[in-house]
Amino acid sequence: MTNKDSRRAWLAWILICFLVLAGCVQKQARFYQRDFLAMDTYISCGIWAENQEQAELALDQVERVFIEMETLSNRFDAKSQVYQLNQKAGKGPVVVNPDLIEMVNIALQWTERTQGAFNILIGSAMDLWGVGAENPRVPEEEEIAAVLPLMDCSKIIVDVGNSTLFLSQAGMVMDLGGVAKGYAVDQAVLILQSMGIKDLVIDAGSNVYTLGRRGDDSPWKIGVQDPRHPEEVVALLEVSNAALASSGDYQRYFERAGILYHHILDPATGYPARGSTGTTVIMQSAVEADILSTALFVLGPEQGIALADNLTQVQAALIIGADGELYGNDSLSRFRLE
Ligand code: AMP
Ligand code: MG
Repeated sequence: MTNKDSRRAWLAWILICFLVLAGCVQKQARFYQRDFLAMDTYISCGIWAENQEQAELALDQVERVFIEMETLSNRFDAKSQVYQLNQKAGKGPVVVNPDLIEMVNIALQWTERTQGAFNILIGSAMDLWGVGAENPRVPEEEEIAAVLPLMDCSKIIVDVGNSTLFLSQAGMVMDLGGVAKGYAVDQAVLILQSMGIKDLVIDAGSNVYTLGRRGDDSPWKIGVQDPRHPEEVVALLEVSNAALASSGDYQRYFERAGILYHHILDPATGYPARGSTGTTVIMQSAVEADILSTALFVLGPEQGIALADNLTQVQAALIIGADGELYGNDSLSRFRLE
């Protein structure tokens, strides 16, 4: 190699190193966050993106997904497909968006897996109690007995080919309050991943999803609220590339004569479930975590933990019993930091 050649080789090396370095600097991701209201919830989405433009595009998509899912599933909104479905209960099928079919199919699978503890036909009982509405009240026993037959999920007719749903008994009311948020989180994560986002956290009320690492390369840690002292944390869990969902009797409730009536009903009785005060699960899928945290709340510590231990989808499950004790499944300790 001549002197000239060796000088050229050095220059080429320096140029390559410079380009690689420049590439690294350019690829240095920064944290961007957007907070917005959807599904009656304060939603916060944080992502690491390469630049403002990529971040804005991605966060716009996240917001769009939540608004779209709310428009489909909010049964109190006359424009929603679930509202129309409920209006046509006992009358005829309604053509719906494939996302709604998917949401209902997933929910029905989990009705089976939870021995009926999760039931999207809970709406007629929810309406009697009106928890979260303007005039909540304790219904008469006869009123509750009258709506129990309206919760038979085998009477939901799903026609995937024609993209229709049909509540085949008059008076049935579908309520996707325990599933839609988780479903929206999963959709948002899929979209962000398809846009090249590798590190993110979505906090949709009690439905959290984390992917990748935090900026300082440490794993995500999520605190589980104490149901009786929500400003305090009863456990700290590590959540990596997974969803964490919580349900609790402190989230929505009213009080009469010193008794707390909350928003998670036992489909077997039509009354607020009494075995737990809070539940938290970690699973791969946000929609399944959303569903299971509600179902475990209904089942209570004994049955709930037994079920969680039998489900391969569950990474960790924690139930705070009505007695104030903490009950965990076999694998909880692997995720519990405190
Ligand atoms: P979450 O906050 O995710 O536990 O869901 C609670 C919401 O799910 C309630 O506000 C109702 O809309 C609905 N819900 C209440 N009880 C049940 C139940 N047993 N199965 C399915 N959904 C329920
Ligand atoms: Mg839920």
